[in-house]
Amino acid sequence: MTDRRYDRRTVLKSALAGLAALPAAGLVQTAHAQAAPPHLDEKDPLAAAMGYVHDAKKVDANKVPQYKKGAHCANCLQMTGKDGDEWRPCNIFPGKVVNANGWCKVWVVKPGAKVG
Ligand code: SF4
Repeated sequence: MTDRRYDRRTVLKSALAGLAALPAAGLVQTAHAQAAPPHLDEKDPLAAAMGYVHDAKKVDANKVPQYKKGAHCANCLQMTGKDGDEWRPCNIFPGKVVNANGWCKVWVVKPGAKVG
């Protein structure tokens, strides 16, 4: 009496099918893990409250006294990520990236950075 439901051929086929699927699953997972975070929307409620703009040159210094000429995200203490990248993470807006040329009211000069 032999149980034919799990004969050698069936077990081998299943094992090979499983092995073949592993690299594809790995690629999908890797691609998902490397997906870039979304750009911060200027209309996002927190961004709007902080006066965030993608281009610091659009800040009206007469209306926003906190703005200092030459200040932008790339020379802000809160910006992280790789120097030179256009869009980078910011400690104030987790899960999003901000423009290196942007600005908001939380701007604090990065130590050693030249402003103005
Ligand atoms: S905290 Fe700094 S890096 Fe973040 S959005 Fe404001 S100015 Fe840009």
